[in-house]
Amino acid sequence: MSFELISKYGEHEQVVYCRDERCGLKAIIAIHNTTLGPALGGTRMWNYASDEEALIDVLRLSKGMTYKAAAAGLNLGGGKAVIIGDPKKQKTESLFRTFGAFVNSLKGKYVTAEDVGTSVRDMEYVYMETPYVTGIPVALGGSGDPSPYTAHGVLMGIKATVKKKLGADSLSGVRFSVQGLGNVGRNLTKYLTQEGAEVVATDIDPEVCKRASEEFGVQIVAPDQILQQEVDVFAPCALGAVVNDQTIDQLNCKAVAGGANNVLSEEKHGRALMELGILYAPDYVINAGGLMNVFVELEGYTEQRAVEKTNKVYDNLMTVFDIAESKGVPTFEAANLLAEQRIAEIAHLRSRAHGREARQYSTLDQMTKRHD
Ligand code: NAD
Repeated sequence: MSFELISKYGEHEQVVYCRDERCGLKAIIAIHNTTLGPALGGTRMWNYASDEEALIDVLRLSKGMTYKAAAAGLNLGGGKAVIIGDPKKQKTESLFRTFGAFVNSLKGKYVTAEDVGTSVRDMEYVYMETPYVTGIPVALGGSGDPSPYTAHGVLMGIKATVKKKLGADSLSGVRFSVQGLGNVGRNLTKYLTQEGAEVVATDIDPEVCKRASEEFGVQIVAPDQILQQEVDVFAPCALGAVVNDQTIDQLNCKAVAGGANNVLSEEKHGRALMELGILYAPDYVINAGGLMNVFVELEGYTEQRAVEKTNKVYDNLMTVFDIAESKGVPTFEAANLLAEQRIAEIAHLRSRAHGREARQYSTLDQMTKRHD
């Protein structure tokens, strides 16, 4: 059954089951593709209903990381890990250190980070056993919280979207609706207002709404009123699957461009947006700033380099829009084409070059030095 699932969810290179009875660790590491470099992706801790559900999740997420890194122009492959367990009850030092030892046994083929259910603190334990972890605290040579960089990348992507759709070089006076004022949405709202944009925002947490209204002077509406707002750009920064059968007709915007993952409920919704004349900035292209930020950690982190990297979201998105236009396909399809083309080209180059292993993982040198 497992092998069938691996084929069904994307021809992964390697899937590693990690089990330790003593500390209660049950984890799966999935390495989807390492053509471009080491497979980087966070570790999700979740109380999965079954091992199969955990396997499907890690296979799906790791393939997503391959596409995200490839479209971002990073020399990274795609991987992800899941720890099966309740993050509120089952976290211990030995669990994360044991997991770290498993990560270490892959010798840098997989590099981890935090994700849903895991924190910087958990990654500190992982770091005690392996250098192959990113998103560790600044004090340890890491890059800390990625969300300001994710938000900065989203801002650059929004600028590309506004340029493409409205022909405008400035966000001044452009109207936005922001759904979700958490780590990404709050930072994005700050950047948008600094650029002179008009923002209407929402969150299910009244406290964060109040804070955003006081700090940035944005208009707040109820969560069930955000989609209908007449705006230029709708920026989803909360949930996935926000564009679905129920919501698509409510949208009153010219473009959808935000930080949330898995914005489209199904691919057909990407086609429907195109038919409605709404320009969609594919999620994994526009929200790649956080990944770019941890990539810089692999090279030796500086803030300036992280900002330079995340600025590239503008060009990456323009390339996607151009492919979509020239081929007459929806933008999500254009993003997949861009990622697949880059992987195919580098695979071809590798097949001709010498010393693939050494070149591929050269970015990890800095990590191992940092750990010594
Ligand atoms: P977060 O948990 O800090 O913020 C999410 C916010 O959305 C919370 O304030 C929550 O109250 C609000 N929310 C939840 N349901 C809502 C609803 N129905 N209506 C309005 N608000 C709602 O998470 P985050 O780190 O800001 O991430 C936001 C999105 O961006 C997620 O989809 C995440 O996967 C994606 N993302 C985040 C990063 C990052 O660096 N943090 C990177 C890439 C993608």
